[in-house]
Amino acid sequence: MTFDWLVVGAGFAGATFAERVASTRNETVLVVDRRPHIGGNAYDHFNADGVLTHLYGPHIFHTNSDTVAAYLSRFTAWRPYEHRVRAVVDGKLVPIPINLDTINMLYGLDLDEAGVAAFFEARRDAGREIRTSEDVVVAAVGQELYEKFFRGYTRKQWGLDPSELDKSVTARVPVRTNRDDRYFTDSFQAMPRDGYTQMFARMLGHPNIEVRTGLDWRDLPPGTGWRRMLFTGAIDEFFDHRFGKLPYRSLRFEHRTLDTAQVQPVGVVNYPMTQAYTRITEYKHLTGQIHPKTTITLEYPSAEGDPYYPIPRPANAALYKAYEALADARDDVVFAGRLATYRYYNMDQVVAQALAIVARLDARARQRPATTASS
Ligand code: FAD
Ligand code: UDP
Repeated sequence: MTFDWLVVGAGFAGATFAERVASTRNETVLVVDRRPHIGGNAYDHFNADGVLTHLYGPHIFHTNSDTVAAYLSRFTAWRPYEHRVRAVVDGKLVPIPINLDTINMLYGLDLDEAGVAAFFEARRDAGREIRTSEDVVVAAVGQELYEKFFRGYTRKQWGLDPSELDKSVTARVPVRTNRDDRYFTDSFQAMPRDGYTQMFARMLGHPNIEVRTGLDWRDLPPGTGWRRMLFTGAIDEFFDHRFGKLPYRSLRFEHRTLDTAQVQPVGVVNYPMTQAYTRITEYKHLTGQIHPKTTITLEYPSAEGDPYYPIPRPANAALYKAYEALADARDDVVFAGRLATYRYYNMDQVVAQALAIVARLDARARQRPATTASS
């Protein structure tokens, strides 16, 4: 059988695209993923002890896009959840993003908002040109807080000094003078009520979609046909590393289930100064599950392993551009998602990108009759 589309990858990019073309364009889709499950990095499951766990680390959904929230809401109900993170710094458990309470707790002060603004003003390097991830933080809060909260964490996470990374990386984490201790301030923040995997199952449940997991697309049996492909894996791998390996950062996840109801006060605790891992997640805060046991995940960054993060820095952007030129020359393949477009995208941005790709296909289809008529 010949499918209209082969979609490689059953994560957010692949599932959104497959669902849209199947249901709005009435096209047939074969979705393959080499992992033994759907959902990509957002996959979650009930582990052997019955605790809902994210196999690839904490995934918290947040977006400012009404379109993306409305789209995903067709496939899931939501549990309202605002993410909060603490960092262990100088032996204290303090809010990150750095806010008024962080400074007061860390330095034993009793500043108000104006006081903490003056505290930052006295320490920040205001005149600094902002190019790197070091510049962003030092320009906002000065050297000392940069070293306590960002330098060590970033070196662990990326295997690079913040001065070697684009400013966009640490700019993901703001600095506040008020007491807002939420990690995100997006207008929509929630977790899929029944988990991500259930949501993906509904997205991919369309009768025009066939899903095969545990299968690399290159191992599809002979005779499987498709007209076009949406590829959401690593772009350098697609082109057999023709220009060399495009660096992606990996993680090793250590999942532990403990015989206690709760171990930490918030969903995630960061370790910027100590430990080989960057952070520990306790899922029950995210999922709201009531259970006598609790599951946590420690994240150990690594150069080896599955690609999880594109690494934003100029040399990598240049190498990606070379691959992107190969991609642009392929009419038969569309590249989408975090790995294939080498962008440090959150889940909502991946959904928005996939929706935009479908919108472009629709626009082209509308233009085609006019072009034909005039030629
Ligand atoms: P993926 O989910 O990576 O899916 C690509 C799929 O393609 C994979 O399943 C892979 O197996 C498959 N594939 C690749 N090559 C082949 C092949 N040759 N044949 C068959 N299949 C193939 N985002 C947020 O918004 N909030 C968060 O809190 C958040 N936390 C995160 C935490 C961690 C630790 C990580 C790594 C990411 C986090 N993200 C978060 C980002 C989020 O995971 C991504 O934005 C999103 O999952 C990307 O979806 P995707 O479809 O582009 O890629
Ligand atoms: N970061 C840091 N210290 C922290 C939190 C974040 O140095 O306590 C830096 C680090 O470089 C990290 C980046 O900010 O990779 C982005 O953080 P985020 O929490 O968005 O990372 P993600 O959830 O994508 O892994």
